[in-house]
Amino acid sequence: MRHVLVTGGAGFIGSHFVKRIIRAEDVARVTVLDALTYAGHTENLGTTFLSEKLRFVHGDIRDAAVVNSLMASGTTAVVHFAAESHVDRSYGAADAFLSTNVLGTQVLVDAAHRHGVEKFVHVSTDEVYGPLPEGTATEGSPLRPSVPYAVSKAAGDLVALGAHQTLGLPLCVTRSSNNYGPHQYPEKIIPLFVTRLLRGMPVTLHDRGQHVRNWLHVEDNCAGIEAVLRDGTSGEVYNLGGGTDLSNTELTGHLLNICGATWDAVTYIPDRPANDVRYSIDSSKAGDQLGYRPDRCLEDGLAETVAWYRRNPDRWAPLTAGGLRPALPSACPVSAPLEGCHAR
Ligand code: NAD
Repeated sequence: MRHVLVTGGAGFIGSHFVKRIIRAEDVARVTVLDALTYAGHTENLGTTFLSEKLRFVHGDIRDAAVVNSLMASGTTAVVHFAAESHVDRSYGAADAFLSTNVLGTQVLVDAAHRHGVEKFVHVSTDEVYGPLPEGTATEGSPLRPSVPYAVSKAAGDLVALGAHQTLGLPLCVTRSSNNYGPHQYPEKIIPLFVTRLLRGMPVTLHDRGQHVRNWLHVEDNCAGIEAVLRDGTSGEVYNLGGGTDLSNTELTGHLLNICGATWDAVTYIPDRPANDVRYSIDSSKAGDQLGYRPDRCLEDGLAETVAWYRRNPDRWAPLTAGGLRPALPSACPVSAPLEGCHAR
């Protein structure tokens, strides 16, 4: 745990994790490797960016030379967040998602093995299990991803687990449900809706808003990832879910209420292809083995998140400056700035 390499540490979840792990007494250095795509911003690291314990490297996880040099310079643990992460952008851009999420993971695990990294945590998603009309997915459930993002993440999981099996790399995988919290890029449903509602703009729901997602506060996810980093058994997968399953309609009701808007702000658009109707995971393994207990109440977490967006328009307004189209496109190119892409 002395020298932790965090990929994607300028993104939403990665930056929360960096701010958490850098405070640990047994961590002497945190290196962030981030390509600073449209989703990565060093501002997400706040004053931690100036910490003497932090080293920031602007680079790509697919660049084997950069990755090997970082692993060779004393890295003892890796937490791998870097990814193309937005479902809507993955439609029509699967190649970019496969490139970063699969080939990038391959570069990292190869280098970690070569340089004797002691622990590698691969951060994945509940979406790899695919839609679950009923029941919950355990870590042993089959991977049935549907949308291109989930396909690329499932392939990345197999690359990572394969490195444990064939190379003996000490590695765990986490699969979390939908995260929310401060400074999430305003393309995912919660920050997208909040930043529009706060400006008196309409929001759109796919179909009838019936899709169900499980919501996890980003700090709870980071606590779970740290527990896996410290105590997870090599070769194991850990689901990290929150306590609350909500349909997008129910979620929208909460957000309208907190933002002081009404249902007049909501319009409905046709569903996107293969929009998974429901995700649900069983996190009891992480609870029983690692003491994982997400403790943020959704209502409080949402209120606190909206308050952050109210207080910090300077952080998100520039990302929406191009103007949000009222009717949302079904696909957004990976390279495009935010143009009103819709929810995960
Ligand atoms: P994000 O899009 O906010 O951040 C991704 C970060 O990765 C950005 O800083 C970006 O610049 C960086 N990045 C992208 N491609 C890169 C490359 N080739 N090389 C180096 N850096 C690169 O994503 P997030 O929401 O913080 O998600 C982080 C991880 O957690 C991802 O692996 C995602 O699949 C997973 N996850 C996210 C959620 C969620 O609700 N957001 C839920 C479950 C799992």
